[in-house]
Amino acid sequence: MPHREHAAVDAYQPAGAHPGLDRPAADSHRDELPASDHAVLPPGELRNTAVREVLCEFCIHAIHKSERTPGPPPARVLAGPRRGFHRIGLGMPEHDVLVIGAGLAGQRAALAAAEAGASVGIISKVHPVRSHSNAAQGGINAALDPEDSWESHAFDTVKGSDYLGDQDAIEIMCREAPEELLDLEHLGVTFHRNEEGRLGKRAFRGASAARTYYVADITGQAILHVLYEQLMKHHEVYRYEEWFTTSLLQDDEGRIAGAVMRNIRDGTMELFAAKAVILASGGNGQIYDPTTNALICTGDGIAMAYRIGAPLMDMEMIQYHPTTLAGLGLLITEGARGEGAHLYNAEGERFMEKYAPNKMELASRDVVSRAEQTEINEGRGFADGTVALDITVVPRKRIHEALREIVNVGRDFAGVDITREPIHIKPGNHYVMGGVKTDINGQTPIPGLYAAGECACVSVHGGNRLGANSLLDTLVFGRRSGKHAAESVKGMMVREASRAVLRDEERMISQIIRRDGAGRRVSEIKAELGETMDRYVAVFRDEAGLNTALETVRRLKDEARVVSIDDKGSVFNQDVLGALELDFMLDNAECIVVSAIERRESRGAQYRTDYPERKDDEWLKHIDVSLDGGVPDISYSEVTMTQWEPQERTY
Ligand SMILES: Cc1cc2nc3c(=O)[nH]c(=O)nc-3n(C[C@H](O)[C@H](O)[C@H](O)COP(=O)(O)OP(=O)(O)OC[C@H]3O[C@@H](n4cnc5c(N)ncnc54)[C@H](O)[C@@H]3O)c2cc1C
Repeated sequence: MPHREHAAVDAYQPAGAHPGLDRPAADSHRDELPASDHAVLPPGELRNTAVREVLCEFCIHAIHKSERTPGPPPARVLAGPRRGFHRIGLGMPEHDVLVIGAGLAGQRAALAAAEAGASVGIISKVHPVRSHSNAAQGGINAALDPEDSWESHAFDTVKGSDYLGDQDAIEIMCREAPEELLDLEHLGVTFHRNEEGRLGKRAFRGASAARTYYVADITGQAILHVLYEQLMKHHEVYRYEEWFTTSLLQDDEGRIAGAVMRNIRDGTMELFAAKAVILASGGNGQIYDPTTNALICTGDGIAMAYRIGAPLMDMEMIQYHPTTLAGLGLLITEGARGEGAHLYNAEGERFMEKYAPNKMELASRDVVSRAEQTEINEGRGFADGTVALDITVVPRKRIHEALREIVNVGRDFAGVDITREPIHIKPGNHYVMGGVKTDINGQTPIPGLYAAGECACVSVHGGNRLGANSLLDTLVFGRRSGKHAAESVKGMMVREASRAVLRDEERMISQIIRRDGAGRRVSEIKAELGETMDRYVAVFRDEAGLNTALETVRRLKDEARVVSIDDKGSVFNQDVLGALELDFMLDNAECIVVSAIERRESRGAQYRTDYPERKDDEWLKHIDVSLDGGVPDISYSEVTMTQWEPQERTY
């Protein structure tokens, strides 16, 4: 039963028990409190959401009850029980480190920051264990086997990135992977064990050894739940669940000072002060339709950082996953090919023989996606614009043991029993390799602002991410960001954040809500955006198509300025959040398209039919994009090389 440091609602409840609780509540807190630690809560103050956030649900129930009876005496509330949470109701919430996002990157960052002694606030627009990391099926990479090596993992990652990944960051990620994995195991993640009782692994694409560790096909979910349990243990970590961040705040010197939040439950707005902010707000797949990404993946953090001047990097690099269900975008995990599944065209040909004769279905994602799309475009696909994935070659017992979720996906969403017949699939939007540019500790060029996970670009994935390297990226760089942020703010005062931004945001949101119904709807604009991106900024691209996409995105940006919503309320108003997310998505889309136009070569996920060659002399560099005078401005940065010279990339 969740029970926060709670109010002592003396007047309304029997001594020693909260209403509805069949065991004595933790009333020892109340008894131990010196009188000075109590604040008087006037009736009606419960409507102040910041107050409600620190009350346990039973106290809230008790106060609600009291407010329904005339003339209730004031409730008494415990003030400042948590280190780093300095007020109740009055003032603003204040933390050493504020983590925006509670997926794997955010939770790992929060845990590391708390372990380094910081007070931490962690925000999520959904309940943390419903974050998109929950969807990760296949596993996490680590060179743990004595016959494997971090160097081999690093080389595969560099090659997979088409030499655009920064090799110093890749080395760190691959070196630290085994320890990170073992830490998770010791915390309680139930990784698959083989018949000898050792950690079992599967082969993933682009890897020269089987090094993907997994929990059936629910790896992300399993890790997320274990990290959440760990966070609950920490008194230094305060969780703000179902709060939506609308913008980042800076002080007069440009240092990060906090963020503006909307409490989704009742629509009130708050300014949160922080000495450091870690963005861990996930990817932007919803820009595309279809996508494997959850509805919440709208690139909010990427856009918020961009709006305050943080550069984004590698934004043109959008991964299409080779095996998604046509139309719906649901993912059939790469674990299926890892277990041995084959790809066929409509003529019954195992076509990967032509494109990657050595690795076949285990070539990297960009290579397999392009192969499938070529088969479809050249008329060798099925009538529904797909090719077939045949999992029946995997023993049925093994399918039920290791791929049970996709047995359900096949049955429920395609009407196919994957243990008996092939399933139709096609390439679909899956992952953004680019994001907020950071160093190897997650720091962005904005003092005090960090980023980790899919919203960040360290860059360990470069032009193409290898399967099962993203969970690793979230954990390694989440941990490094949390630790670095906590250590760098020790002894620092909280920065002065202007309340003007809060008032601007409140005004902007109330304008959206008050608007009449003249503008286009959020869903219409989003659908046109998704279709445009999928048509012109997908597996194959060219200049004419990219220019059409840019024109469309800019028109949609104008239309979004007067978008209409139906819900005029304040409680769980998802309509208004949809309008805010649409703005974030359009900023992301504009940055993706201008970067894709700029890169006049083919590398990794960016395949330009008008520039089909990789051109290292001119383009072995990152494209950075920053906001300048309201429009994206392009610059370049060096790719960090340590020990691997670029080679031709064949599989
Ligand atoms: C179907 C699928 C399967 C995958 N399988 C694998 C796999 O097997 N192995 C692998 O390595 N990778 C896999 N990936 C990729 C991987 O799951 C993601 O890249 C990774 O989980 C992203 O984690 P994250 O912590 O960066 O973000 P997320 O898990 O997306 O979390 C983002 C958080 O930010 C919060 N947030 C966002 N915006 C706001 C806002 N405005 N205000 C407040 N909170 C906000 C959200 O509520 C959420 O808590 C898969 C991806 C998909 C789509």
